[in-house]
Amino acid sequence: MAELMEVDVSESVESAFAGLGLDSRLVETLAALGYEEPTPIQRKAIPPLLEGRDIVGRAATGTGKTAAFALPLLHRLAAAAAVVTPTKARRQPTALILVPTRELAIQVAKAVEKYGQPLGVRVLAVYGGQAMHEQLRVLDRGVDVVVATPGRVLDHVRRGSVKLDTITSVVLDEADEMLDMGFAEDIEAILAGTPAGRQTMLFSATMPPRIKVIASKHLTDPVEILVAREPVAAGTVPLVRQVACLVQRQHKLAALGRVLDMEAPGAALIFCKTRTEVDDLSEALGARGYRPEALHGGMSQEQRDRVMRLFRAGKANLLVATDVAARGLDVEHLTHVVNFHVPSEPEAYIHRIGRVGRAGREGVAITVAEPREQGQLRLIERATGQRIEISRVPTAADLRIRRREIFQATLKGAIAEGELEQFRAILGSLGAEHDITDVALAAIKLLHQARGGDAEDGEDIPVMQPEQPRGGSRNDRNDRGPVRRGGPRMARIYISVGREAGIGPRDLVGAIANESGLPGSDIRGIEITDRFSLVDVPEDAADHVIESLNGARLRGRRVNVRRDRQG
Ligand code: AMP
Repeated sequence: MAELMEVDVSESVESAFAGLGLDSRLVETLAALGYEEPTPIQRKAIPPLLEGRDIVGRAATGTGKTAAFALPLLHRLAAAAAVVTPTKARRQPTALILVPTRELAIQVAKAVEKYGQPLGVRVLAVYGGQAMHEQLRVLDRGVDVVVATPGRVLDHVRRGSVKLDTITSVVLDEADEMLDMGFAEDIEAILAGTPAGRQTMLFSATMPPRIKVIASKHLTDPVEILVAREPVAAGTVPLVRQVACLVQRQHKLAALGRVLDMEAPGAALIFCKTRTEVDDLSEALGARGYRPEALHGGMSQEQRDRVMRLFRAGKANLLVATDVAARGLDVEHLTHVVNFHVPSEPEAYIHRIGRVGRAGREGVAITVAEPREQGQLRLIERATGQRIEISRVPTAADLRIRRREIFQATLKGAIAEGELEQFRAILGSLGAEHDITDVALAAIKLLHQARGGDAEDGEDIPVMQPEQPRGGSRNDRNDRGPVRRGGPRMARIYISVGREAGIGPRDLVGAIANESGLPGSDIRGIEITDRFSLVDVPEDAADHVIESLNGARLRGRRVNVRRDRQG
């Protein structure tokens, strides 16, 4: 099966989901949504759920867990024919999905509606703060799936507007969050009111004892599913500079544009989750003046071969692809891997970033992450034992500086290349009338303008602060303690300049590498605040780095360097 998928990607999509046993209408919907293959939690959870088993799944947001429980739930609804034969009688909900927050209720309800559309499933999100009469009106018309926060659904149960005795499936989503928010008693009350023969699915990012108690009390012989818990074997994680930019969803495209401008990649592979996203992102990048090529399983073999040829030959430097389509794509000169979302599992992340940094060249892996995906980033860090540096999105000012650097490098290149003789006559005649420096400046100005000048995307991208790990102390740095990377113990170094002095990660890496000779790849965990910066360097090099960097100038400022007191 796996081999077949590699041979012909376009045919594998349907069979990958159909192979799990899902209703053909759901499989078609998934193909239409551009999903190319099930995520690991979907692969593991869907078959037992279709058999009617209870499950306990340890999985965070971003792993595809919503579809993992929603698809079997919808499959069962369709099989029960409750939705396919519309009756005059009011439809009673048969599935109840409990979530901790209003936002999640809305998000999950939308997802269930999206997957269940071909079945005509009716979904209602029920949460506090929303007008009761509106919820009552919709309930009165008949609903199949209720997605609710525990408190509000209990209100409905007490009023008789939601009946629990018709419920055949219950999902507890983000169970740990629900307990943290004090919903334990409400959950108990709800479960107690549903029929004993129901199917119960519990998902939680963490498994504290309280969750285990709920699971053992309310679930029957559940299948336990762990995603991304096992650390990856040492030595299998490639050493690549890994950074992530945190941005809100609506700014992801602008952020990616800036990252591409800043990095000016020789050859970048940009990963998307679905075919649709690949198409959309390629188009959007094209509209912004880039020349990306798209690669996904929905394209013919011929089209895919053409794109791969262009990319391998260096005629295209941006390739937007799905994991499935990029399988088997081995590009020697790849400099950057960009994740346009946080991959659903550490293995996928490692596999992706393993494509850069081959043959001793420094590779860069950049992840554009939404704030809600930070938990998933941390899971990846835990699995790889490597830190993913949270970097701010380049600002318009960073880009101006960077463009000038690139511009200067282009001019230097032209000087080095020579073959300037044919233009000497022009310089000669202009030089007779004007100062040679002015002539050069005018030429530079024209070239600069021709390359778009200091054009800016004009978009204001708000800076997102990384959230503190749950359950940890307020100080992230303290929390992580000394970092180990591929074996060596790391030391945290404080440097007395930060964002206000115009410092960026490149300045720090450049200065440390120049002054101390430490290779850039040994410098990790860069954190830049307004006033100061912090970096991790191998413990055995720390004193040398401090000594060589202390008193050096960084962006014109003399710096103080010492071990970070907190670290
Ligand atoms: P979740 O973990 O449920 O929040 O899902 C994260 C994101 O992954 C959502 O945007 C889903 O639409 C998307 N997704 C879920 N399953 C797949 C899949 N098999 N292939 C591609 N994208 C998926």
